[in-house]
Amino acid sequence: MWTRRSAILGTAAMAIVTWVGLPAAQAPPYDLLLRNARIVDGTGSPWYRGDIGIRGDTIARVAPSIDAPAARTIDAGGQVVAPGFIDIHTHAARGIFQIPTADNYVRQGVTTLIEGPDGSSPVPLAPFLAKLEALQKSVNIGTFIGQGSVRSVVVGELDRKPTSGELEKMLALVEQGMQDGAFGLSTGLFYVPGTFTPTDEVVQLAKVAGRFGGIHISHMRDETSRVLDSVNETIAIGERGGLPTQVTHHKIIGRPNWGKSIETLQAVDEARARGIDVTIDAYPYTASSTSIQGALFPAWAQEGGRKQVLARLGEPATRTKIKAEIVRVIQNERGGGDPKNIVVAACDWDSTLAGKNLSEITRIRRLEPTVDDAAEAAMWIVERGGCQGIFHAIGEEDLERILRHPATMIASDGEIPTFGVSSPHPRSYGTFARVLGVYARERGIITLPDAVRKMTAFPAQRLGLVDRGLVRPGMKADLVVFDPARVRDQATFEKPHQYAEGFSHVITNGQVVFEGGTMTAARPGAVLYGAGRQIRLRSPSFGDVSP
Ligand SMILES: [Zn+2]
Repeated sequence: MWTRRSAILGTAAMAIVTWVGLPAAQAPPYDLLLRNARIVDGTGSPWYRGDIGIRGDTIARVAPSIDAPAARTIDAGGQVVAPGFIDIHTHAARGIFQIPTADNYVRQGVTTLIEGPDGSSPVPLAPFLAKLEALQKSVNIGTFIGQGSVRSVVVGELDRKPTSGELEKMLALVEQGMQDGAFGLSTGLFYVPGTFTPTDEVVQLAKVAGRFGGIHISHMRDETSRVLDSVNETIAIGERGGLPTQVTHHKIIGRPNWGKSIETLQAVDEARARGIDVTIDAYPYTASSTSIQGALFPAWAQEGGRKQVLARLGEPATRTKIKAEIVRVIQNERGGGDPKNIVVAACDWDSTLAGKNLSEITRIRRLEPTVDDAAEAAMWIVERGGCQGIFHAIGEEDLERILRHPATMIASDGEIPTFGVSSPHPRSYGTFARVLGVYARERGIITLPDAVRKMTAFPAQRLGLVDRGLVRPGMKADLVVFDPARVRDQATFEKPHQYAEGFSHVITNGQVVFEGGTMTAARPGAVLYGAGRQIRLRSPSFGDVSP
């Protein structure tokens, strides 16, 4: 009673089967049927063979074989079908409104992006979330509320304690952020003004986020010589704040500090053994990326904002002090011991600098490529308006040790670049594919099902997304189809604008957003909200509700 128009294209290729000729009165039971899949379901269990029936935006049935008709059938040809990947640390606001298809993410299987990391988010969140709601997009998106941004609004970029009135204001802004739908409080205690925030103050704000079911996620105060202290601080914020806490993009920066992940992971294990809910996320690269100023300048030199930074650089004695600090950071920390290890990713005021390292830029400035002169070049960059940088200063052994840890999930810390423009960190294009191709398949650091767990069920559980992250009936149909033998990242530091390979289909909320090597016209992405929004909607006068 129904016929198939199918093409058998071999094992790796997709056969697309279209159902035709069903009587109008009898609606097809499935909108989309994925057949012949090796299902890696997100739990970490080994794959099993099965079919997946989707109705609307939801997985309706998973079974060894589903013979019912469907509006559309995709033959997975024995490839892996996994839940769509959930990226808990992104800077997606950099690009989502320009490129709402988020091609760099979708083409490596990511269907959910979480914004607002590193203590940085819009304040208040509601207008940002409303703008995202209005946007036709291929991916789901949600956000944290940023502690640094909250402090910036209330106290400014200043190194001082807040007055009690200011503290009340900050607590209220975090509460508002949680009620607007944030997934928790992010901190960036490394950055200005997060770095001026005492732990006690963070704990008070974290308690508010915890009351609304949120988590705390931290770009830590120090990822170099005092990284262990910082991990302990992150743990303490969770313990004293009474909420789950996460070391985000965990890494050990600076050659003299390599190996410290042994101690930091031990601290995490001990805390977990005591019942502290602490977890980790990481990206699979030995270089970090942030602004040249944020990475190389001491915090005191950045207090008060750009005007004051420039004033300090114009004052010879202060400039000498700043330079000495930059020299130290190039030698022992973010600079990886050599100005060559600092590469400009993007520069608003001179696009030709993108891709050049600090040694080359020092020469362009007609200086010698010594650490001393490189520090001069770094100050010149900041004076001209600053650039985004890439910093090669992470050891491979630490990276692998962190990735392997059972409490580590995968997150990119990336953005949505305009294809071909500037020289961004390849993590935006390759994080998830690289873990699957290099760290799971080639090096066997983790298994494929564990890699998928770290990208799906684990971050979903962390965010409280109870309806995503697993291939299971009742779950939202965010799904990715890839060839486990071919999946790989293509983006490199030299040529970052290259999409990942090996993915044949990406499905968001039941609709195919990527297939046949191209993005489709579908824009089914949703804005996702934390539990606090439900609490607000249930009880506008929050106070007597215990979430
Ligand atoms: Zn960060």
